[in-house]
Amino acid sequence: MEFGRFFLPGPTEVRPEVLAAMVRPVIGHRGKDMEHLLSGMDPALRRLFRTERPVYVSTSSATGFMETAITNLSRRRILCLVGGAFGARFHEIAERCGRPADTLAVEWGTPHTPAILRERLDSARGRYDLVTVVHSETSTGVLNPVADLAAVVRDYDDVLIAVDGVTSVGGAPVEFDAWDLDFLLTGSQKALALPPGLALAAASVRALRRAEEIPARSYYFDLLEFERRAPGFQTTNTPAVNLFYALESQMERITHEGIENRWDRHREMAERTWAWVVDLADRTGSDFSVLAPEGYRSPTVTAVNLPDGLSGPEIVAAARARGFTLAPGYGKLKPSTIRIGHMGDHTMAELEAILAVLDEVIDELVDDRMGGLE
Ligand SMILES: *Cc1c(COP(=O)(O)O)cnc(C)c1O
Repeated sequence: MEFGRFFLPGPTEVRPEVLAAMVRPVIGHRGKDMEHLLSGMDPALRRLFRTERPVYVSTSSATGFMETAITNLSRRRILCLVGGAFGARFHEIAERCGRPADTLAVEWGTPHTPAILRERLDSARGRYDLVTVVHSETSTGVLNPVADLAAVVRDYDDVLIAVDGVTSVGGAPVEFDAWDLDFLLTGSQKALALPPGLALAAASVRALRRAEEIPARSYYFDLLEFERRAPGFQTTNTPAVNLFYALESQMERITHEGIENRWDRHREMAERTWAWVVDLADRTGSDFSVLAPEGYRSPTVTAVNLPDGLSGPEIVAAARARGFTLAPGYGKLKPSTIRIGHMGDHTMAELEAILAVLDEVIDELVDDRMGGLE
């Protein structure tokens, strides 16, 4: 199938040349070949995370590094910022791993402001030692103001901030060092446009000091092991070597594009999508709208509110019949929204193609409902 028809907000479409890079012999992971592979992509990975710290690569999906944050970074109580499904996942992980945690919940589709975080940390008086936040909440398309949230956290001694950047790193500005974050994670299959199966993360020195205080950190996801292996360009356990070949190839492509250019491309695709939603509402006279409020919209994924009478799954099915893939809403938003992942290696031309198909599909469904959606 030709590239440019697959717009899930993860996994995203992978360029054929990146897939082809995986077809190379397996190598031993304790030898020079592996060291060369990892040291070769090290500068590009640090540029991606905007950090001087090493970037760890784990053979797991992104959730593995979410679990790492929970099990390695708190010895007291965790505050999980929840405004969608992935924010809630941090809290579920904490519960499953037996780590005390509370949520600071906002309505799905709204961001967490620095003010509400400060209010909670003030009233909690030293109760929390870790805050978790999702930068780009893939279930709602909300982009949280992570730089500002991190600045609030820095005002409280002893509190760390762990950021899920799964649909932001590689698609939206994220600055590990400049924003003074403690843990930032992503997965291979979202804005990086790689096959699923790898997770990437950076940790601050503060985070490592914290991990030293926690004996039961987990074995597979032990932050101190990742750090110990990093200077020698080694992995903790047997890595999915062929996925690392794909990562190497994609990091070359990202370096060639330039990370800021990549951010700009995503921004442009997002703005076009938001403008399309406004046009659609005008043209059909129906209540289509972008779920996330202006100023807090992710450049990588847009959730579109549908008018009564249209459902996410039926639009997705009709688009699929025309050869295009997008997603219905996530979880409780499944019937009432669709989600377009304008993310990874897609271009404006490809985005125009799926938006044109959605125009057709939606016009037909609206006509079907006999000329109106009242
Ligand atoms: C997809 C996603 C995850 C989970 O990633 P897996 O790789 O499936 O473990 C976590 N957070 C966000 C924001 C995501 O979009």
